[in-house]
Amino acid sequence: MTGERPWGQEDLLRRLAGAVADRRLPQSLLVHGPEGVGKRSLALWVARALQCEAPEAGDVPCEACRNCRMAARLEHPDIHLHFPMPRPKRAASRAKLREAIEAQRHERLARLREDLHARLDPDAVTGLYVAAVENIRDQASRRPSMARRSVFVIEDAERMVPQSASPEAANAFLKLLEEPPPFAYIVLTSGRPDALLPTIRSRTVPLRVAPLPIARVAAYVAEHLDVRDDDRARAVARRAGGAVYRARALVDSETGESEAAADGLLAAALDGSPQARYRAASRYSARGARGELEPALEALRIRLRDMLCVAAGAPDAALDPTDGGPSEGAILDALGAVDAAMEGVGRNLNPQATTALLLEEMGAAFAGRPTGRMAGTPQFAGVLRSL
Ligand SMILES: [Zn+2]
Repeated sequence: MTGERPWGQEDLLRRLAGAVADRRLPQSLLVHGPEGVGKRSLALWVARALQCEAPEAGDVPCEACRNCRMAARLEHPDIHLHFPMPRPKRAASRAKLREAIEAQRHERLARLREDLHARLDPDAVTGLYVAAVENIRDQASRRPSMARRSVFVIEDAERMVPQSASPEAANAFLKLLEEPPPFAYIVLTSGRPDALLPTIRSRTVPLRVAPLPIARVAAYVAEHLDVRDDDRARAVARRAGGAVYRARALVDSETGESEAAADGLLAAALDGSPQARYRAASRYSARGARGELEPALEALRIRLRDMLCVAAGAPDAALDPTDGGPSEGAILDALGAVDAAMEGVGRNLNPQATTALLLEEMGAAFAGRPTGRMAGTPQFAGVLRSL
């Protein structure tokens, strides 16, 4: 169901519905807040509110009229959702490139119709490229086809690629933000509003989606994600930093492989034998394929952070505390090695060799031997080459 009501944001929704009813809603909005807080849900909710035909103005979006129903299925012809995407392969002309981008967008919209919170292109380099911005500008200049208004939701607007290549497109977009046609509304979203071009920031009205109190997110986790253990629900809520959709992703991944993979890595490092390290590292591919190792390292970092809380005498701060274990200094060294491994994986270093070196370093840290071969990615890449 894609037409959902952003959870826990009742006050904000009431104010927005009032602004739509009184025709006070600014035409260029910037929805911002941390990752997983529900910016996409909120922006699409605003789009539905703007298109709704409810007889009582205060009741938007009614979720029952034709506009609301089409919008909830992401099929409303006058609601245009754009997001960063990989750059298409070479195209014969500008027009072909723009067509290719539009085709990519429709593929991804089909995925979002299945799951509104799907992560699009998690492993690819993506951006809102000039050709996409040109498409937006053209779509916005056309009259709506069915409703009275057209609404543009443009996600992760900070990923709009600096447009020195086409100052024309950049200027046209800025003009669109500053003076949209009377029928067009533009809703940008951003998790990093500081990274937005100042020229974009100054032309939009900010709307912050705040994280929720931990207790409320814990209640959501218990009720909607079926986590019946109160302590665990609270731990998930804390780890999600009060962001409901991040909590959801955490619960999904917890039942998946990354936690088990992290346990395997930790056990191999604690075991200390070269055989255990070799077995654990051989699970990862020797080329590319960072997809699997990255979430395992994330989970490993959380495990080590918990161990650090316990070692530092603050088990209450741990998300999932366990007794005993290495000293604070050893754990800090191990965390440093995990950070280095994360960065190496992000730069496409060989995952298997990276894991082998990581486990060697962690094993040394836990055994009280000196570490530091992974300090700094360039050095550590050199160590990998020499293996
Ligand atoms: Zn409606």
